[in-house]
Amino acid sequence: MPAAARVFFALQPPAAAQAELGRLAGWCERRCGGRAVAPENLHLTLLFAGELPPDQVASLQRAAASVRWAPFEVTLERIEYWARPRLLCAVPSQPLPGAMALAEALRAALRGTLALPVRPFAPHVTVLRRPRRLAEVAMAPLSWQATEFALFCSERVGGTRRYRSLWAWSCS
Ligand code: ATP
Ligand code: MG
Repeated sequence: MPAAARVFFALQPPAAAQAELGRLAGWCERRCGGRAVAPENLHLTLLFAGELPPDQVASLQRAAASVRWAPFEVTLERIEYWARPRLLCAVPSQPLPGAMALAEALRAALRGTLALPVRPFAPHVTVLRRPRRLAEVAMAPLSWQATEFALFCSERVGGTRRYRSLWAWSCS
């Protein structure tokens, strides 16, 4: 049987925002211990689809291609600690209607095709895993214009998690 892939839709910050979030992740690591997320892995998940065989990944690709969406601004303003997954995340202070609409449009496009895990959309960019001590970390607000989203495959390579972009779609 062909191997399943662990796939999810996400926004990848453009280079300048990625570098800024990378610096922030390093700062969090110095303050709190734990493991900063590598800059190339920084992302904002729109919809997690789970482990899927190749034909279902192809269905995801077709469904995503049918989604029409307008570009929107992503603004992240503070660092939050999420206790259960033990993460530090950069989160918005205000709802992100554009991101919410895109996440919902993707879910709607897949309805009837795939059974998806149900978890409410909570926009965040994970910057650090497993902090050893908790400390306030301030961040300067960081914004970027989202004009593209991608389907990523989550893989473990030599014990390290990495996300590989399979396809990307631009706003319409
Ligand atoms: P690891 O599982 O090795 O700690 P990870 O959580 O980043 O690393 P994945 O579990 O493959 O890697 O998840 C990929 C992305 O999808 C991450 O942003 C993760 O937060 C998100 N994700 C994983 N499971 C779910 C889920 N059930 N619902 C919503 N998002 C999820
Ligand atoms: Mg995980």
